[in-house]
Amino acid sequence: MNKKYKDIVIATRNKKKKEEIMRLLRDVGMKVWSLADFPHIGPISEDGFTFDDNAIKKAKITAEETGMLSLADDSGLEVDALDGKPGIYSARYASEDASDNMNNRKLLDELKGVPFKKRFARYKCSVALAEPDGNVKVLRGDCFGFIGTVLRGNNGFGYDPLFIIPRYSKTVAELPAKIKDRISHRAKAIYQARRILLRHVDIIK
Ligand code: IMP
Repeated sequence: MNKKYKDIVIATRNKKKKEEIMRLLRDVGMKVWSLADFPHIGPISEDGFTFDDNAIKKAKITAEETGMLSLADDSGLEVDALDGKPGIYSARYASEDASDNMNNRKLLDELKGVPFKKRFARYKCSVALAEPDGNVKVLRGDCFGFIGTVLRGNNGFGYDPLFIIPRYSKTVAELPAKIKDRISHRAKAIYQARRILLRHVDIIK
């Protein structure tokens, strides 16, 4: 990245994801927008084969359409006992417009009878930073845990009520946001993006 920026658009309509990313970028000093501020940009289909593909596509289209620097996150859950599923299909595991609860129920069904030590899983996150001229940079993070047998906790979103962090013996949904913001796949990827942004923020308002 060569230019300096005052603004950044987060390429998401997922409210919870947006909140997490906004928290993680709070001290960067850029004005943070999201796709909710640009209703003319239609849904961007996630038809790539990897988290990187989808993150790059979302960031590039958003940067082109808005003329602003854009940040996109594509993330999901990989479960070893399910050969890496649901992976890039995490948001639509149970069906095309599944709720988090439907996806969690499906995951529990698929893992029925699998003992705890074989329920190893990882969250993965790819973050793409795209400039309006097409220049893109990708940053990645992951977070390891186990899939529980019952839903626990109300924080976070998605698979958080099932994703147990061994160090805390708690699901991510039972942990305060302050801890998720230190250990999550998204926090690790955004931390690297943050370091780049801090070098490119145009602080003359
Ligand atoms: P995306 O919007 O295509 O990146 O979909 C991400 C999906 O992966 C979400 O809808 C969740 O199901 C799952 N996911 C990603 N990150 C998290 C997280 O931090 N907690 C729980 N679930 C997550």
